[in-house]
Amino acid sequence: MLDVVIIGSGPAGITAAIYAKRANLNVAVVEKEYLGTGQIAESSRVDNYPGIPGIDGYSLGEKFREHAESLGVEFTEAQVLSLGQKDGIWIIGCDEDITLESKAVIYATGCKNRPLGVPGEEKYYGRGLSFCAVCDGAFYKGKRVAVIGGGDTALDDAMYLSDICEKVYLVHRREFFRGSATTLEKLKQKENLEIIVNARVEEITGDKKIDGIILDNKTKLNISGLFAAVGMIPQTELLKEFGVLDESNYVKASEDTKTTVNGLFAAGDVRTKQLRQVVTAAADGANAIYSVMEYLRNI
Ligand code: NAP
Repeated sequence: MLDVVIIGSGPAGITAAIYAKRANLNVAVVEKEYLGTGQIAESSRVDNYPGIPGIDGYSLGEKFREHAESLGVEFTEAQVLSLGQKDGIWIIGCDEDITLESKAVIYATGCKNRPLGVPGEEKYYGRGLSFCAVCDGAFYKGKRVAVIGGGDTALDDAMYLSDICEKVYLVHRREFFRGSATTLEKLKQKENLEIIVNARVEEITGDKKIDGIILDNKTKLNISGLFAAVGMIPQTELLKEFGVLDESNYVKASEDTKTTVNGLFAAGDVRTKQLRQVVTAAADGANAIYSVMEYLRNI
């Protein structure tokens, strides 16, 4: 019988695993598919994690993982298909015929990319439409691209692509950007970057591959790459039946990561919170183990 199963291996899950090992808990981490340490792996540059300025997201995640592995944390690559509780014990059903039993569960599955919401966009996935500038930017070397969004991801993507591409359009639906003001100022200095505000993508054009987009102000941009950076959707489908989600499907829990269900804790971007950053996800992982230990003492 495990003390705690951590579902998800982003910064929150890995930090929880490190704290669990150091607290001598019997822990297992289940991850769907290892593609780097959570969403941060897609970030070209992380400048706000203390002590390691200017590192790329993938390398930062690798450092987290090496730390966990050095303590003996084991990662199981499997998709969790069901989550239930029987007589106070959590049963975590996964594919590959794997079933885990545990006294507590830390749910740290993060978020996935939100689609643009433009009719027919699915047909352009992998044909010019991408959700990851770091992964796919190199395909557009010397070409014209557009980034959609006004948050940190959009600004970071635009910055990264402006060093590779001939021309980058940054298109945002409002005038105010919610991403870093410092990055926005740097973007304004870029000669090959054009910022278009108060505009939405109305149509994507192109036969087999994207050749342009039409904005709702009827401007046509000739581009071959379209990078969507319009936010995240929490991956909380497995928790629907537990009544712990808010109206946007984030898990309701405060900083102690406790949900209203006994033995169920939520950490990282899936949790309701003000600021979703690597540092706040890592903090959640530490708090989650503190709460798990308190829970284990009381059962
Ligand atoms: P976000 O902050 O939620 O921003 C999403 C952006 O997309 C917003 O500007 C939003 O517009 C726009 N948007 C949403 N739906 C849209 C639609 N259908 N069409 C057009 N635009 C749409 O998401 P994010 O940038 O992915 O960031 C997520 C979290 O990760 C944030 O907390 C962010 O700070 C953090 N992050 C940090 C770093 C870093 O520190 N280096 C890097 C990446 C992400 P409105 O502004 O009008 O709502």
